[in-house]
Amino acid sequence: MTGAFAHRTRAQSVRFAPGDAAAALAEEVAATGAQRVLVIAGATERALAGRLTAGLPVAGLHDEVVMHVPVDVADRARAVAARLRADLLVSVGGGSTTGLAKAVALTGGMPIVAVPTTYAGSEATDVWGLTEGAVKTTGVDPRVLPVAVVYDAELTRTLPTAAAVASGLNALAHCVDSMWAPHSDPIDRVLAAEGARALAGGLPAVAGAPQDRAGHEQVLYGAYLAAVAFASAGSGLHHKICHVLGGRYDLPHAPTHAVVLPHVLALNAPAAPDAGRRLAGALGHGSALAGLLELTARLGAPRSLGELGFRAADVPDAARAILPAVPPDNPATVTVAVLERLLAAAQEGAQPR
Ligand code: NAD
Repeated sequence: MTGAFAHRTRAQSVRFAPGDAAAALAEEVAATGAQRVLVIAGATERALAGRLTAGLPVAGLHDEVVMHVPVDVADRARAVAARLRADLLVSVGGGSTTGLAKAVALTGGMPIVAVPTTYAGSEATDVWGLTEGAVKTTGVDPRVLPVAVVYDAELTRTLPTAAAVASGLNALAHCVDSMWAPHSDPIDRVLAAEGARALAGGLPAVAGAPQDRAGHEQVLYGAYLAAVAFASAGSGLHHKICHVLGGRYDLPHAPTHAVVLPHVLALNAPAAPDAGRRLAGALGHGSALAGLLELTARLGAPRSLGELGFRAADVPDAARAILPAVPPDNPATVTVAVLERLLAAAQEGAQPR
């Protein structure tokens, strides 16, 4: 029984081009008719971006990329795009790089072609984020959805294993939260389950043999499905928690997701049996939580927010900051006390039950 529902598909060209990103990118850029491309890539991906865009009509390359897109960083990138009269943005990098391109597109209106180098999934969503002071603001705007995405599993092979694991679990968090986020629909849940299956299958291969391209291909596929589901379903409890933690305490995005996810699953799964069954099946285990804990242990994922810089003394403040953002229809009832318990357990790295 699916009942009545509405599902909106976000229009975007998506290419999976293992080992062939430059050619696929050239075709996607040509399709836009752009003449003045601004390439956005952080310092680490600068050389790669130069190689991938060598044959394109590049007007400039901007490499000031900062996680969570501080407003002043966005303003400087916007000024560069305006000065160069850029008519297309090509982003080469992780979620922070895509996020900066989105900030420029939000005010400049030019399209984006994204070449992701992590599993963050920002390239498949119309969600933007900007940080001012310690507050991260997000919004939804069709202008920030890249018109095209080029995935190449060769590009994620350079990710250090710990970064690949955290990023892959960030993608898995999109699947888990898509099961109960405010706009979750039956199509999102199918995408999320298949995304989780691909991520759970590919991540151990990526962690065990970082050069194994097949593992990276599987994880990129899963990360894309995860992001498409998330773009439609919206932010559930898990993302609301991580969003506050990231902006307020400047915690690293992907590892924060990796630590918090089992705690949110432990809280919500008993109140969302269908989601629990689907996730258990995707993770190849009788129980979703046990399956996730087994996977994170096998991957050597970070376990405590304490190791990421979040202090036990921050728990009450964080719980109060998160509460107003909790979706009203979250499966489990959430109070300040529930959040304090969840955050305290995540802070010290306790096993969620
Ligand atoms: P990131 O983009 O900050 O990258 C982390 C580090 O990895 C950087 O130092 C980067 O240079 C390096 N790196 C990236 N690709 C690499 C590669 N292939 N090899 C070696 N090093 C590489 O991290 P992220 O987790 O990809 O993105 C996090 C940001 O994305 C956060 O700000 C988050 O809010 C945002 N995000 C947004 C959405 C959305 O829908 N808007 C979705 C997911 C994430």
